[in-house]
Amino acid sequence: MSQGLVTMSYIAASILFILSLSGLSNQETARRGNYYGMLGMAIAILATIAGGHVTAYAILAGALLIGGSIGAFAAARVEMTQMPELVALMHSLVGMAAVLVGYASFMDHGIVLTGVEETIHELEIYIGIFIGAVTFSGSVIAFGKLCGKITGKPVLLPARHWLNLLLLIATVILGQQFLVSNETGTPIFGNHLFDNSIFNGPVLALLLMTVIALVFGIHMVMAIGGADMPVVVSMLNSYSGWAAAATGFMLSNDLLIVTGALVGSSGAILSYIMCRAMNRHFLSVIAGGFGSVGGGAAAEVEGEVQPIEAEETAQLLRDSKNIVIIPGYGMAVAQAQHTVNEITKLLIGQGKKVRFAIHPVAGRMPGHMNVLLAEAKVPYDIVLEMDEINADFPDVDVSIVIGANDIVNPSALDDPNSPIAGMPVLECWKSGTTIVMKRSMASGYAGVGNPLFVHENTRMLFGDANDRLQALLKALQE
Ligand code: NDP
Repeated sequence: MSQGLVTMSYIAASILFILSLSGLSNQETARRGNYYGMLGMAIAILATIAGGHVTAYAILAGALLIGGSIGAFAAARVEMTQMPELVALMHSLVGMAAVLVGYASFMDHGIVLTGVEETIHELEIYIGIFIGAVTFSGSVIAFGKLCGKITGKPVLLPARHWLNLLLLIATVILGQQFLVSNETGTPIFGNHLFDNSIFNGPVLALLLMTVIALVFGIHMVMAIGGADMPVVVSMLNSYSGWAAAATGFMLSNDLLIVTGALVGSSGAILSYIMCRAMNRHFLSVIAGGFGSVGGGAAAEVEGEVQPIEAEETAQLLRDSKNIVIIPGYGMAVAQAQHTVNEITKLLIGQGKKVRFAIHPVAGRMPGHMNVLLAEAKVPYDIVLEMDEINADFPDVDVSIVIGANDIVNPSALDDPNSPIAGMPVLECWKSGTTIVMKRSMASGYAGVGNPLFVHENTRMLFGDANDRLQALLKALQE
C-alpha cells in the first residue's frame, strides 16, 4: 500500500473515531457510535499491516490469533456485572504495551538519530514508559478493588503526599541521568558498579524509573476510597489513552498518537465530569486519598426497619400518580432491568407518571444503568439525570430504589465524617414513600451505613431484586 493511501486511511480512521465518540455521548446514537469505532479500528489495523513497516506477517498473524481469541473468549464469558473489572484489566494491558514498546524502542538500534531528534526520542521513551507503568499498576489495583480482591477502603500511608512528591522528584532526576548517560555513555550518578553488565547507565535509570512508576500507580489507587473509584476508573482510562499516544510517538505512528490523544482527552473530560458529580477536586483525585473527608468516624445508623411485601407495594403504586424508579448496582446483579421495564409499561398504561432517576456513579461503571435500561428498551425520554430530577422528589408519591445504596445515602449530605460526605445523592427520602429493594441491611460499595433504610417514610422490600419485582408485577396484574 502506498504511503499516500496509508495516510488517507489514517485520516478516515481518525474521523470515524471522532464520530464514534460523539455517537457514544448519547443513548440513541450509541449503537451507531460503536459501529463507527469498529469500522475505524478495522481500517486502522489493515492500513498499518499493509503499510510497508510490517515484515513479520507470520508472527503478527500468530499474535493476532492468540490475542484475539483471548479477547473474544473473555468478552463472551464476562458477566455484565464484571464489565468494570474487565475495563480496568484492559487499561492495564494498554499500560503494559506502552512499557514494552518503550523498552523495545530503546533497544532498537535500527534507526540512528542525532542531536535534538535523539533527545526527543529518548524523552518519548522515558515518558512513555513512565505513563505506561503508572497505568499498568494503577489499573491492576483498580481491578482488585472493583472485584473485591483488594479492600475498597482507602489505604493511607503516613505523609503520603510527601511520598508522592519524592517519587516525582526521583523520576525527574533519573530522567536527567538517563538522557545524559545515554548520550555520553557515562554511568548514572557516576557509579561504575554496573559498568560491564547490561545494567549500564541508561538501562539502570530506566529500570529504576519503571519501579518508581509502578509504586506510584499502586500508591495512588490504593489511597482512594470506595465511593470515589468511578473517578479513578475514568482517570485510568485517560492515562491509558496518553500511554497509547506515547507509544504512537515512539513508533512514529500518527494514528496511534491521534487515537491515544482522543482517548486521553475524553477520559480526562469524563474524570472532570465525574469529579463535579462527586463534588471532589480534580487535583485531589490525582494526589489520592480523598475518600477520607472527615477526621472522625462515620455515625452509626440506628432506628426501626419497616419491612413491606410485594402485594402491599402494589397497592401503594395503584394509589399513586407520580413514581420515580432509582436503579443501582443491585439491579445489575439481579439482572432485573427487563422486569423493571414490564412494570414501567404496566404503570404507564394505567396513566401513571413513571420516571427513572440516574445517579452519575450508579452501578460500577459510567453509564452502567443507562446501558441496562437501554438493553431492556426503557424509553430514553423517561430516564433522567440526577440534576434533572432531584428537585422533583417532594412531589413524588413513591420512589422505588432497586438495589441502590450509596447513591441514595442521606449521610453524604448530613454527616461530615462519612466517607461519602459531600457527594450529591438522589434525595428520594423527600418523596411520599420510599420502597427500598435489597436482600439485607448490608452496606454498599463505600461500606457505610445508610440512614435511609430506617427513615420514617421508608419501607424495605427484602429479597433478590428480580425475584421481588416479578412478585410485584404479578401483584400489579391481579
Ligand atoms: P452500592 O454498591 O452502593 O449498593 C448496591 C446494593 O445493591 C447493595 O447494598 C446490595 O445490598 C444490593 N444488591 C446487590 N445484589 C442485589 C440483588 N441481587 N438484589 C437486590 N439488591 C442487591 O450501589 P450504588 O449503585 O448505590 O452505588 C454505586 C457505588 O459504586 C458508589 O459507591 C460508587 O462510587 C461505586 N462505584 C461506581 C463506579 C461507576 O463508575 N459507576 C465504579 C466503581 C465504584 P444487599 O447485599 O443487601 O442486597
